[in-house]
Amino acid sequence: MSASGSDRPRLFAPGPRIGMHLQVERVVRETPDRVIYLVNNGRRRWHAVKCWECGNKHSPPTAQACTYCSAPLGFRRLLMTSRWGHSSKKGFAAFARRRIKGQTLSGPLAIYRYNHQMLAFFSWDGENLLVNEPAPLSGRRLLAMAFQLADAVQLLHNYGVMLGHLGSQHVLLGSDGSARLLDLDVQEMLSRPIVPSADPTLPPTRDVRALASLLSDYCPVEDDALRKLLVSMRRGGPRTADEMAGAVNTWARRHRAPALRSKSAALSDTGIVQHRNDDAWTWRALGGGCALYAVADGCSGPLASGLAIRTVGRLAEKRNTGVPFTLPVAKVLVGECFNAANQAVRGAMEVSGFTGSSDTTLCVVARTAQNLVVGSVGDTCAWVLRQDKLQQLGEREQRVQLVGGKSDVKPTIIEWKTLPGDRLLIGSRGLWREVSENVIATILHEEPDPRSAVRRLVRAANDLGGRDNVTAMVVDL
Ligand SMILES: [Zn+2]
Repeated sequence: MSASGSDRPRLFAPGPRIGMHLQVERVVRETPDRVIYLVNNGRRRWHAVKCWECGNKHSPPTAQACTYCSAPLGFRRLLMTSRWGHSSKKGFAAFARRRIKGQTLSGPLAIYRYNHQMLAFFSWDGENLLVNEPAPLSGRRLLAMAFQLADAVQLLHNYGVMLGHLGSQHVLLGSDGSARLLDLDVQEMLSRPIVPSADPTLPPTRDVRALASLLSDYCPVEDDALRKLLVSMRRGGPRTADEMAGAVNTWARRHRAPALRSKSAALSDTGIVQHRNDDAWTWRALGGGCALYAVADGCSGPLASGLAIRTVGRLAEKRNTGVPFTLPVAKVLVGECFNAANQAVRGAMEVSGFTGSSDTTLCVVARTAQNLVVGSVGDTCAWVLRQDKLQQLGEREQRVQLVGGKSDVKPTIIEWKTLPGDRLLIGSRGLWREVSENVIATILHEEPDPRSAVRRLVRAANDLGGRDNVTAMVVDL
């Protein structure tokens, strides 16, 4: 439980107004320390006079545009974020006062104090939060996003903004391919630009690496070349965001990013009831068209699922020699994933002195030319849709043994001979507990595009209660 958990404010319900002129339409995303809402100014005709661009309240009620800055007036939707932790408010308020803005950086139009919350308002043009988008993005889209976000990070560094965490909840993605940062975690505002230092664990290099890491989560598993670029940036190629933008540009000119439709998609959602998403997932190419897919669902304690998933991803990268994986080699790798993840979680807890339990389910699927090798611990599961029949791969275990638990893990490992047209699904408890296998099968059967399929699966789980975090990964075999 995070320190800010106890004073987490109650959600604003849709409808009632906030302040004089705003009303909430819906919650867009909840995170451990933030709630993001969609709001509008459709209440009480205030929209006729207040300008959100410059704050001018004195345009006549009949005006079409602000009499001060000539921005259009009228009905408008905005994103509103609520934060409540003291440290988070302080840095952000200092950032807001500087009014730093750019094409790729959305500064708050206004901030309000509301009880112990700080509400910040941002312009909204129908974009999606990246965290609510299924992965992957096409190579071309990802490159455009990399370039734009590197630009935003450089702007922040120029103004001396010390960033905290940079994640997919801080990115807005437009349907026209635009990307911008908003609602940042600001640790501190310096009075001078942040310049390269010798230590890559400090900004600016730290933020460049965080951005590369964020981008690589959205890289198509089939796109080896682009993944290599992102991995090299994550491990410390460019020192500054400008250098990163340059590297992206150079790469894009040399490679033609494939426009192929991705055969896999994943989406992870907090659900309706929880405030924090403890599910995590990854995928990695294994050479020769083989690949590894993994989903984890954190059960207790902090960070176990994310750490398990990162460990699995790193191991797969290490074992990938470009040579196609045979079935026996894939089996060995799946087994190794569980041992490595288990050791990593237990090791991290020992080092941090954490005395409670911290553990996670884990489902790892290695795909070879003609087979799947499915390993699992706990109740995160894999299925195959063949024709219109859904078949579970292996038994769904109770959460008796978990990764990060006290003893060695013994995953159930099974093999499945694939046929062309088979479709793999990996889902966390939040999916299968809410959505019946019949409905899952129907959705998988009806949605040819994997991204649409995962979107519909997550929506179905939320419509039916969304009691737990929900993750769905779909792979066409
Ligand atoms: Zn104005």
